[in-house]
Amino acid sequence: MTEVDIVIVGGGPSGLSTALHLQAARPQTKLVVLEAETYPREKICAGGLGARGLRMLDRLGVSVDCPMVPLDAIALRVGGKVIVTRDPGLGVVVRRVEFDHALAKATIAKGIDVRDGTAVSRIEVQEDHVLVETERGDGFRAKAVVGADGVGGIVRRALGFGRGELRAQVVELDTEDLPSDLPRDTVVFDFTASDLHGYAWDFPTQVAGKPMVCRGAYVLHHLGPDSPKQRIAAYLAGRGLELSRYRLKQFAERGLEPDAAISRPRVMLVGEAAGIDIATGEGIAQAIEYGMLAGPYLARALDRDRLSFGDWRQHIDGRHLGTQMKIRHLCYRVFYGHRRPTVERVLTQVPSLMKLGVQDFAGHPLSKLALARGAGQFLAAMVREGMRAPE
Ligand SMILES: Cc1cc2nc3c(=O)[nH]c(=O)nc-3n(C[C@H](O)[C@H](O)[C@H](O)COP(=O)(O)OP(=O)(O)OC[C@H]3O[C@@H](n4cnc5c(N)ncnc54)[C@H](O)[C@@H]3O)c2cc1C
Repeated sequence: MTEVDIVIVGGGPSGLSTALHLQAARPQTKLVVLEAETYPREKICAGGLGARGLRMLDRLGVSVDCPMVPLDAIALRVGGKVIVTRDPGLGVVVRRVEFDHALAKATIAKGIDVRDGTAVSRIEVQEDHVLVETERGDGFRAKAVVGADGVGGIVRRALGFGRGELRAQVVELDTEDLPSDLPRDTVVFDFTASDLHGYAWDFPTQVAGKPMVCRGAYVLHHLGPDSPKQRIAAYLAGRGLELSRYRLKQFAERGLEPDAAISRPRVMLVGEAAGIDIATGEGIAQAIEYGMLAGPYLARALDRDRLSFGDWRQHIDGRHLGTQMKIRHLCYRVFYGHRRPTVERVLTQVPSLMKLGVQDFAGHPLSKLALARGAGQFLAAMVREGMRAPE
């Protein structure tokens, strides 16, 4: 039995970011990251990463050495129009198999104990410690455990957090570039199918050095039965592509629910284990941000020997991550509500709304005034449109 301060279950961006930020805040902490798979490991994901995610790592002196497609614009196909918002350097597209491997290497280079091929099989929370067992037969006695094990992880399941209500099913595949695609510095979110609770996307990507496009469909299946496979088949057919020619991958996503518990004594959840943005399914930068908050939070808790984590949710809610999740949850409710046609028209008329979203994705700080102005413009346009065409 190995004695440590903290066991982090899961070596994706949230687990590795938590480890890096905890070590930076409290270098003497004995911590171990346990990752079930062996790097380089696949994570089904389109790899769109806002520049803010890389900046958070940069501040720790961590640069992730892997291929990246630079992004300068986000395009929205909505309400019969294409709205392109430019913000040079707003983010990148990565391949998760490469990004997570490079991040794990950078974490190990900082002297952090990251053990891959080490799946956690049992967790037992006692009053003054937590016992963690792995499939390989290792045992750890820790002061606390961080669940960074993603959408289907063991920490949530074993400790009774429930599976969560806000769930998406997501499918994706990589195809060749098409002449009809937008320039390769642009990611596209396509809301053309107005009966789809979700969207389709085209992200420029690079597979083994070859320029390709990752296309997919994000389907909020808790809002009604739907078939992600049929959605992507129809989307591809509209572009003259045949689904059967490509390798389709499918995975789930979990949204952070307002007021959902994401901790209990000696256990806290981060990243997709806790929940990410349900409106867009964006989760990589959020995972890194969870870690950026969890590191100093854990350091303080260890210093004070107070590991109840009763205010972990409150801690997040009071910071940028919490505000962003609240705003995106509101967007999700408004967009997928019964006024969707009006909202779509408003989005095409008030480009500043899209600009706010892009600025936030890129990591430019948004003032309360800018947010209030955006909300005011949205409401005014909704009233105007509602009066023009009541639904
Ligand atoms: C199809 C698809 C497309 C997406 N596209 C984007 C996108 O373009 N941009 C974006 O920002 N987000 C995207 N996301 C969301 C994003 O992939 C996740 O939100 C993000 O990976 C969450 O990071 P994480 O570290 O919390 O969890 P994960 O990245 O899921 O990492 C969890 C880790 O825990 C490990 N683990 C699980 N169980 C155990 C265990 N028992 N013991 C030890 N380790 C364990 C897993 O092997 C895994 O490595 C997409 C998701 C899907 C499904």
